[in-house]
Amino acid sequence: MGAPSSQAEIAGLAVVLRAYVEYQRELGVLGFPPARPSAAATAEHATAVPSPIPDLFSASGVGATGSLDELRAHIGDCRRCKLAPHRTHLVFGVGNPRARLVFVGEAPGRDEDVQGEPFVGRAGQLLTEIITKGMRVRREDVYIANVIKCRPPDNRNPEPDEVASCEPFLRRQLELIGPEVVVALGKFAVQTLLRTKAPITQLRGRWYDYHGIRLMPTFHPAYLLRNPADKRLVWEDIQKVMRVLGIAGGRA
Ligand code: URA
Repeated sequence: MGAPSSQAEIAGLAVVLRAYVEYQRELGVLGFPPARPSAAATAEHATAVPSPIPDLFSASGVGATGSLDELRAHIGDCRRCKLAPHRTHLVFGVGNPRARLVFVGEAPGRDEDVQGEPFVGRAGQLLTEIITKGMRVRREDVYIANVIKCRPPDNRNPEPDEVASCEPFLRRQLELIGPEVVVALGKFAVQTLLRTKAPITQLRGRWYDYHGIRLMPTFHPAYLLRNPADKRLVWEDIQKVMRVLGIAGGRA
């Protein structure tokens, strides 16, 4: 890639850089200060050398949002990455804002893009069956979201800059909901959330920690449509989730 030549390119780079800085700040790495330091921390560091990155973004950052509605408003008519021109709807998430259980998928597909709701296509119907028939929980009592909020063209895999722009929104969603358990659906979701390249076959069925939330990876429902024999394994994973949540459930 050459040097940016137009105002639009420079503006685009600024957006990506801003998302990146915000993301690093959220992660607490690269020496960026947390978005909202405690009063004690502020006093303690009052005479410290100021950060080379001024506190430019935090006031408008996701950390300043106090509810899912505020977060959705903050995201707005998002143009932070190159998926924006391709989408019909930004698919934020759906369900109980106080859910004890959150399902996280990859990105909206065609049906989700059209309807503006996650997991409403064929894979979504299967997920809904797992929730309603398997767990005997109403779909509206859990929360469902994706790592990426806009459909990648032709359902291609999301790219790193798209993840960098979008994942802070999911992270904040989960902070605001405060679930007891997150179920990561499929390779992309779990590898992104846990920052690992390990295969889903190795990751699934075990508990992990995602910023203090218990995380259970399992196969993606779209994979189950192609490999129905593995529904048995997903049901085992879901039963582990149900045990932790104290849910009796039915059969998948
Ligand atoms: N696949 C996903 O990962 N998410 C959706 O919302 C739909 C299909």
